[in-house]
Amino acid sequence: MIKELKVDQDKCTHCRMCTHFCLNNVIEWDEEKDAPVARYREDCVLCLICAMYCPGQAIELIPDYTMKHNPPAIAKGVK
Ligand code: SF4
Ligand code: SF4
Repeated sequence: MIKELKVDQDKCTHCRMCTHFCLNNVIEWDEEKDAPVARYREDCVLCLICAMYCPGQAIELIPDYTMKHNPPAIAKGVK
């Protein structure tokens, strides 16, 4: 899960490729803002494919470390 998907608008080329790269369909295109948005942040697995293949290197992913959305199996190990 990510807390935030930041897109540097100065670097973004509006190619929309990030919406296609994400296999979990986390990213959608916001027509009003003319920018990518993380609609389903809880489904992000932090594979970094969107950031790696972004031609403008415009994407920054901020992970969510709160554990509240992570599976109980992972949370069990946390004291
Ligand atoms: S892949 Fe990068 S440059 Fe293309 S729309 Fe997404 S953020 Fe913008
Ligand atoms: S890091 Fe992976 S799962 Fe998360 S938004 Fe990017 S492509 Fe999708």
